[in-house]
Amino acid sequence: MAKSKTVIVTGASRGIGRKIAELFAVNGYNVLINYHRSENEARNFYETLRTKGLSVALYQADVADRKQVDNMIRFCLAQFDTVDVLINNAGISQSKMFIDITEDDWENMVKNNFNSVFHCTQSVVRYMISKKQGKIINISSIWGMVGAACEVHYSAVKAGIIGFTKALAKELGPLHIQVNCIAPGIIQTDMLKDFTTEDLEMLSNNTPLMRLGTVDDVAQCALFLASDKADFITGQVISPNGGFVI
Ligand code: NAD
Repeated sequence: MAKSKTVIVTGASRGIGRKIAELFAVNGYNVLINYHRSENEARNFYETLRTKGLSVALYQADVADRKQVDNMIRFCLAQFDTVDVLINNAGISQSKMFIDITEDDWENMVKNNFNSVFHCTQSVVRYMISKKQGKIINISSIWGMVGAACEVHYSAVKAGIIGFTKALAKELGPLHIQVNCIAPGIIQTDMLKDFTTEDLEMLSNNTPLMRLGTVDDVAQCALFLASDKADFITGQVISPNGGFVI
């Protein structure tokens, strides 16, 4: 029997990452669930999947910290013997007028949303190069494509992730490693907790498909990009956004 493929999902205790982890596990992947702070949430999620007989492991790491990331990759290889797919999902958001963004806000945004992508990708790619195969999937945002007022720092790093994806796809293509990006639209998760009901209604009404996105809309894109069906796709941005950005 063919050995199962292994995926690492960062920031996977809740929201989009959690749905991605669950969908991959249900589809036969070994899944390393990374989380940072929410120990109880992460452990409950892990136990739920494990009791269903799914192949999962749990690892606490701040993915903005290189040492912790390297240890996480070593742990994953010890558990599952391989890493086939990395999903750089972990991230934070912050809504603030540009003139009010402090140096700490800026650094925090870059650290959690962009340095994390660099560290996880470089650490995993060292292993993937030796295997001459692998898939990296980065989670950006529509705001990285078109920019959002009051989220300049968030938009900037998410745009950076798109540039990172395209450049790395060119460098790693000849080594049979694919690098793609998902730029979700407005997806119903904790990240929207500061939006009012009226805001959400307005956003939904301004979406051609007349609804906000679900975590499943994003997870299905990730499952496709990781699959053999996407073997000729690299350096691309796929944007599940209901037509909000066309
Ligand atoms: P969320 O806040 O529910 O989940 C993000 C997770 O990332 C959290 O569990 C958090 O603890 C984790 N995380 C943050 N920094 C980390 C670090 N340094 N190390 C490890 N984990 C860390 O948000 P979400 O909506 O599920 O967002 C997931 C991804 O999707 C993010 O990259 C976000 O920018 C992106 N995104 C979300 C939306 C949306 O509308 N929800 C839209 C576009 C893109």
